[in-house]
Amino acid sequence: MNNIAAVMTGIRKFEFQEIPMPKVGKGEVGITVKDIGICGSDMHFFNGDAMKIFPNSLPFILGHEIGGYIYEVGEDVSNFAVGDKVALEPGVPCCKCEMCQSGRYNLCKDVVFLATPPYNGGMQRYISYPAFKTYKLPDNLSTLEGAMMEPLSVGLHAVRRGEVKLGDSIAILGGGCIGMMTLLAAKAHGAARIIVTDVANSHLDKALELGATDVINSKDSDPVEMINQLTGGIGVDVVFETAGIPATAAQTSYIVKWGGTIVMVGNILPEVSYSFRNIYRKEAQIKGVFRYHSTYPIAIQAVSTGKINVKSIVTGVCDFMDSHAAFVNSLDNKDHCIKNVIHIND
Ligand SMILES: [Zn+2]
Ligand SMILES: [Zn+2]
Repeated sequence: MNNIAAVMTGIRKFEFQEIPMPKVGKGEVGITVKDIGICGSDMHFFNGDAMKIFPNSLPFILGHEIGGYIYEVGEDVSNFAVGDKVALEPGVPCCKCEMCQSGRYNLCKDVVFLATPPYNGGMQRYISYPAFKTYKLPDNLSTLEGAMMEPLSVGLHAVRRGEVKLGDSIAILGGGCIGMMTLLAAKAHGAARIIVTDVANSHLDKALELGATDVINSKDSDPVEMINQLTGGIGVDVVFETAGIPATAAQTSYIVKWGGTIVMVGNILPEVSYSFRNIYRKEAQIKGVFRYHSTYPIAIQAVSTGKINVKSIVTGVCDFMDSHAAFVNSLDNKDHCIKNVIHIND
């Protein structure tokens, strides 16, 4: 067995390098990586944006949405066997701090997260990984679906934070991968009215296909006006900001219902001018979402039992050696890409 990684050596640059086989330590499993989803955060590195937050992090290996097979079982691991099909939860928390102890381990300050400097990601043929953050996939799921458990986890956690329940009306601002995952999760939780806004008609068509009841192209019409019109002026129970841009963030307080909830899912780096007047007079609440916790078993079950179809958001699959082209495509062809997946052959 020889290990090959796609190493990011510069902005928009990959090099395939032969690297040592990973050592499978105590409590770990060795995994043959099969499918990796290209995430928005990977693209932030690829185009150089994330280098402002993580300077001097190159060379670096991207990828944290991983499905694969076990090729080796380390010492003290009894619940896995060679050949098991698995999904990896990419964050390994310390398990000791206050946040970990309270169950909100996504807020652990000492988390080791794949493809977040200084930790390399999974765009390599083989990796070793802690068994307690590795999840067995049922026979009816593919490794591609395994890789999709990560973005689905973000959607599930967002919907949980928003406490979406049967009959709720929701608005999702941004129809990219996370917006779509939020849609799928909200639908599974019983949301009745699902309004999606985006600037790309192809994303809005996809949203309708996945169960959105209304879509708004925010290039053509004012989403605040449209949502208020659609809801008879009362707004929606839960608003999800998933686009990660100041303009959609600023819209949230205008479209949330009195007593409703705003969930901030997108990565918004600049400060935003915001109407807090809407928040206090509506007694609305704003909640943040940072990654997810305790979602993998639920995500796997929801997909395995057909409650959620994650394959429906995959817009492209490519071979490992074509990874670079897939990244360029994800970046330059955003309007037509929702989720590209890299398939690593033997
Ligand atoms: Zn991701
Ligand atoms: Zn911790």
